[in-house]
Amino acid sequence: MRDSLLITGASQLLTLRGSGARRGSSLSNLGIIKDGALLVRDGVIEDIGTRAEMESLPEARPAEKLDVGGRVVLPGFVDSHTHLIHAASRAEEYELKIEGASYEEIARKGGGILNSVKKLRGATSAALKERALRALKQFAAHGTTTLEAKSGYGLEVASELKILGLHKELNAVQPLEIVSTFLGAHVVPTEYRGKADGAERYIKLLSESLMPRIGEARLAEFCDVFCDRGAFTIEQAKRILQAGRQWGMSPRLHAEQLRRTGAAQLAVQLKAASCDHLEQVNKRDIQALGKSETVATMLPGCDFHLGLERYAPARALIDAGAIVALATDYNPGTSPTVSMPMILSLACTQLRMTPAEAIAAATINAAYALRREKTIGSLEVGKQADLAVFEVADYREIPYYFGVNHCWMTVKRGRVIHAAEQKPI
Ligand SMILES: [Zn+2]
Repeated sequence: MRDSLLITGASQLLTLRGSGARRGSSLSNLGIIKDGALLVRDGVIEDIGTRAEMESLPEARPAEKLDVGGRVVLPGFVDSHTHLIHAASRAEEYELKIEGASYEEIARKGGGILNSVKKLRGATSAALKERALRALKQFAAHGTTTLEAKSGYGLEVASELKILGLHKELNAVQPLEIVSTFLGAHVVPTEYRGKADGAERYIKLLSESLMPRIGEARLAEFCDVFCDRGAFTIEQAKRILQAGRQWGMSPRLHAEQLRRTGAAQLAVQLKAASCDHLEQVNKRDIQALGKSETVATMLPGCDFHLGLERYAPARALIDAGAIVALATDYNPGTSPTVSMPMILSLACTQLRMTPAEAIAAATINAAYALRREKTIGSLEVGKQADLAVFEVADYREIPYYFGVNHCWMTVKRGRVIHAAEQKPI
């Protein structure tokens, strides 16, 4: 039985078993098994229970053995919002931000997203791939096993296709699963700015030249729009997302980050998979999200890096029954981190979520945000054996420690893809 693996020695095995996405008080139920173990075959969880239960199974006898030595095991993190492919950092803008320049002031000076667009257009595919591969290793080293990746630093046909093509290529050459999202509507690119019909002509390029090629080559599952001040309006976002749907891309939205625009309500109306950011939502938005299947994804790394005081109202969203998720928003301008454990720390201290709520938001609910809750996000029979092992005695220590990486091992589809101390088996 070469492809079976028995993992034992989990002081706490956080299964998050149950019926899919979590709302309200069910966010706190992690389904913990003490002295837990799991049997994996061909990358899929065949059985799960206590060590004694698993070791007594006849199928467990010939399996390869992995004892995690009393550490905490949980589902691998699902990072449902990243801008993986970019050419370089924007460290040159960091000091401007510290001196007090706003996100929009930096954008007006040629910084911000357009700065990253300029750098990406000048970069080769090989250089972009190399940078992404290094980042993906770091994602895995922090316990992430699946991540969403958005285009949006190309903003012209060839460069957007280059990014989306890289998502596909990276899925074939490294172990993390990448879920591809088309974000051609990130901002209006420089060459279309300053003209009365510039935005309209750019939207036409997206829907008539780019989307058909993306749809035919199946390069993206989702279509996203940055709907905010300085980006796209509600009316434009609606048209772009409807066009994306015609080419097989489900909608998701950057919503209510800089100013309340009504984008969260639009996300609910369009049955979007998620709406992300949400710092500026009002009571009606919170109620609408609470009644919907649209995941409310919060990105506290962004507010932290920008030094902002206003974070998304996690408690109100949870109380209203919204399906909340957490993600890094890994990007060079506003959230240059690959660390989900750091995002959990911010969720606890800034969003006032409990460690259990934060873990559910970063695993099963994030899987739901990518519509993959049937295969990942919890440790249950029949699901992929995607898990992270942390060098802690209690799961609450995962967000409690910050600035230090306690991820000891990461397993994707039953294969060790990161090991802090021992060689991968
Ligand atoms: Zn983003």
